[in-house]
Parts: sequence; C-alpha cells; structure tokens
Amino acid sequence: MSEKKEPNGMILRIKKAVRDVPDFPKKGIVFKDITPVLRDPTLLKGLVDELARRYAGLKIDYVAGIESRGFILAAPVATALSAGFVPIRKKGKLPCETYREDFKVEYGTDSIEMHKDAFGLGNRVLLLDDVLATGGTASAAIRLIEKAGGRVAGVAFMIELNFLEGRAKLGDRDVYSLIQY
Ligand code: AMP
Repeated sequence: MSEKKEPNGMILRIKKAVRDVPDFPKKGIVFKDITPVLRDPTLLKGLVDELARRYAGLKIDYVAGIESRGFILAAPVATALSAGFVPIRKKGKLPCETYREDFKVEYGTDSIEMHKDAFGLGNRVLLLDDVLATGGTASAAIRLIEKAGGRVAGVAFMIELNFLEGRAKLGDRDVYSLIQY
C-alpha cells in the first residue's frame, strides 16, 4: 500500500539526510548512503519510530531483516514492537539448518538463507530492508519466510527507488516505504 498522505517533518528530514553517492559500488549506480541518518541520534530514533508506528497493533511476531543494512533497522523496530528479530543472511553465514533462495542479479545469481527454525507455523512476520531497488532480494526473502511457514504481514523499506518498479515483484503483499525517489 502506498501512503497517500504527505510525509511528515521527520520523514522529510530523514530524506534530506540520505546521501547520494554516484558510481558506487560501480559506474552508473547512485548509491543511497544512509549513514548520515544513522549517525544522527534524532534521525535514527525518528526512523525507527516511524517504521514501528505503522506496524504497531498489527500483531507482528517477528521482524526479519536482510543482511546487512536491514539488520540495523530490523532489530530496533522489533524491540519497539515487542517482536523477535530474525536474520536473513548471505549464503554460508548461518550455522544451523537453513532454507535457501536464489535470485537474479545483474550478472548471475545470488542466494540468501534463513534458519529453518526461525519461527513457528503461521507466525506473523514483517520483512524489513533499507532499500527496495529491483525487488529481487525482497521477493527471495518473502519466499524464504513463506517456505518456513511464516505469514508475511508486511514488507517495509526505508527507501524505495520507484523507477526500478521493484514493488511489482512483491505481488499483493502490503508493501510500505518511508521515502521514495
Ligand atoms: P534489489 O534486490 O535490486 O531490490 O536490491 C536491494 C538490495 O540492494 C538492498 O538490500 C539494498 O541494500 C541494495 N541496494 C540496491 N540498490 C541500492 C542503491 N541504489 N543504494 C543503496 N543500496 C542499494
């Protein structure tokens, strides 16, 4: 669901603080650097509060964060929602039995994994990451959560790059982004 109302002052301040880094990590990519937001105590708290506020009362059992910038946001949002935190990691990083999903990247494929016992059947999971670009990572993460028997109660991003149309890959899930470009 895209929120129709105007962004509030805090969201505008967060958007202003995100730094564009041209040609990183390679030529032609404009990298959205969120570190100026993270290092500012007021903006960091505002960011976590804004994300958590939208899901308060939705009975979220777990917040799943995608390595690595998704972790930074997912753990405090989980705390704010009195939910647990589940890491979704690059392949080979998690020590116990995992589910794995592959997704296409520019050249070849990438894989992410989640522990098979990350949560129980029917638990309500909020998926959280920093940036929605082409949607390949998030759609693989959704498959992981559903494979493990979780219900995707929401998919949230700090930043959505509208022009890449990643949202189209996420089906009819409740998709929310705090700021858009
Ligand atoms: P995608 O699978 O194309 O939606 O890419 C999403 C993942 O790549 C996220 O985990 C982001 O952290 C990262 N990412 C993609 N594009 C950018 C960008 N322009 N700036 C910062 N991070 C990005």
